[in-house]
Amino acid sequence: MVLEFNWVDFLAFVILNILFLYVLFANEIRQLHKVYIFFHFAMMLWPFGQFSISMTTVPVYHWIYVNISFLGIAFLGYGWLLFSIMLTRGRTNVRALGAGLLAVPAIAAALMVTLNPVHRQFVSAVDGMYAQRSYGPLFWYFAGICMFYVVIGAVIMLRALQRPAAYTYRTQVVLFLAGQSLLLGFAALDTISNTTDWLPWLGHPGGLTSIGILASDICIVIAIRKQNMFRVISLALREVVDSMDTGFVILDDRHVVLDHNAAGRRFCRTPVGQPFPIDKLLEGAIEPQFGRSFLQAYYQEKGKFLQTEIVIRDKAPVNVSMRISPVYSDNGAFVGRIVTFQDVTEWRNMVHELHDRNEDLVHRNMELTQIQEELSIANRKLEQLATTDPLTGCFNRRYLYQMLEHQLAVEHRYRVPFSIILFDVDYFKQINDQFGHHVGDEVLKHTASLIRERLRDTDIFARYGGEEFIIHLPHTVKSDALRLAEELRGLVESQIVHTDRGDVRITVSMGVISMEGRTYEGGNPRQWLFDLLREADNALYEAKHSGRNRIVSA
Ligand code: GH3
Ligand code: MG
Ligand code: MG
Repeated sequence: MVLEFNWVDFLAFVILNILFLYVLFANEIRQLHKVYIFFHFAMMLWPFGQFSISMTTVPVYHWIYVNISFLGIAFLGYGWLLFSIMLTRGRTNVRALGAGLLAVPAIAAALMVTLNPVHRQFVSAVDGMYAQRSYGPLFWYFAGICMFYVVIGAVIMLRALQRPAAYTYRTQVVLFLAGQSLLLGFAALDTISNTTDWLPWLGHPGGLTSIGILASDICIVIAIRKQNMFRVISLALREVVDSMDTGFVILDDRHVVLDHNAAGRRFCRTPVGQPFPIDKLLEGAIEPQFGRSFLQAYYQEKGKFLQTEIVIRDKAPVNVSMRISPVYSDNGAFVGRIVTFQDVTEWRNMVHELHDRNEDLVHRNMELTQIQEELSIANRKLEQLATTDPLTGCFNRRYLYQMLEHQLAVEHRYRVPFSIILFDVDYFKQINDQFGHHVGDEVLKHTASLIRERLRDTDIFARYGGEEFIIHLPHTVKSDALRLAEELRGLVESQIVHTDRGDVRITVSMGVISMEGRTYEGGNPRQWLFDLLREADNALYEAKHSGRNRIVSA
């Protein structure tokens, strides 16, 4: 009977397996899972090859199935060793280089099986039938390589058992050792019964190695099930992630929710597999005007980091900072997004409180500024009161002395000419007596303002005493001072003050003193001032005695 070998199916099978391995190793699954799956896959090859052999009588198929079976065995030991190392070292990952180096004997064994380089040194057919095989020297080398892995694995496990360790961990190691022993025992029985006549009572039964593989895998599965070997890592990670205050929602590249932690579910209740409700969340944006550009960026610029603050209605409104960041694979491809939610209500409340306090401060500041302005006005009034005579608006005597002292010091230093006019109202007592004191006041006020209008801004005009006044004229020589005095005298004389008691006319007598060329020797400016005023007073006295309404120069 000749069977056509179906290459298409065979190639499909091979390619599917390659794809399986590619998906397995190119994705983010824990390496412990990968090693187990690889190991399990290798275990399945032996039974597959063995039962397939029994279904065909075509020698070339026999040859292929035998190869497949032994390929499984070649990598079984390697997988076992990797698993032992990870288990006993408590590692979830092995370094690629170490794993690669450890694979070298397995690959050598695999090549030995498939190429059988020295003809008929591995398994060879008896009378062209592979069902009856003879085992050559390469087979025994192969068996040695497999044993090498098994023995190293066993040594690692036994040494691990000697270390003090947690109960669960010891149970796992014991289960693994039991599985290994079962596999080894059955494989040995199989090999011995098929290659020698040492065990005549056993005959040549099929499937012993498969039974061993199955038994060992059951041991491993029990270990995995009982001890949650794989799950402990993810459970622990889950617990960590769930205990965080920050909410996470993981999205795929089409905005579909893949996972969320406990805090994430508080802010976004969308179940896994549903689209992320970005529109609904943005309805609570505290700056709605940015909502549009945020949405646009969300859909069109997937690589962009986005952040905004939203208000979520939980039991009470919660202010949440929502950040969306892209997630990239190792080779830089965009694979999805991680959305984080951070409750910022407390912070936001603090900001509001600070804002309120700030406004309060601004308000108080305004009040203070107002008070300051009022104070400044009051101050100016006080200053005016301190320096001026309230009746006439002229400077008062105290201020006059202060100003003149300074003025005279400057004039003396720079030899600037100046004059002083001292004048007194004539017969003022009579005016008071005739018209009353308040009319006298009125007359003084009018006279002062009449004279002030005629003077310059730089002249100092002060009330010296009752109805006596002083005018200091800087930069004024004697002739000019006398001319001005005469003018002022004339002005007063021709002035008529209209009062409720009738029209009043007055005259003034003046004493004038001028400084030009004369300098003061010795003493101080104050003394000089008194000397000058005395001289002016004498001149005024002379004016009074020589008939009043006149000017006398000192
Ligand atoms: P004369 O100077 O020409 O010698 O005569 P007189 O009448 O002015 O004499 P004296 O200087 O002695 O008198 C000044 C008077 O001026 C005395 C006082 O009652 C009056 N007097 C002083 N200060 C004021 C004032 O502020 N208001 C009024 N109404 N009278 C004043
Ligand atoms: Mg007088
Ligand atoms: Mg007088």
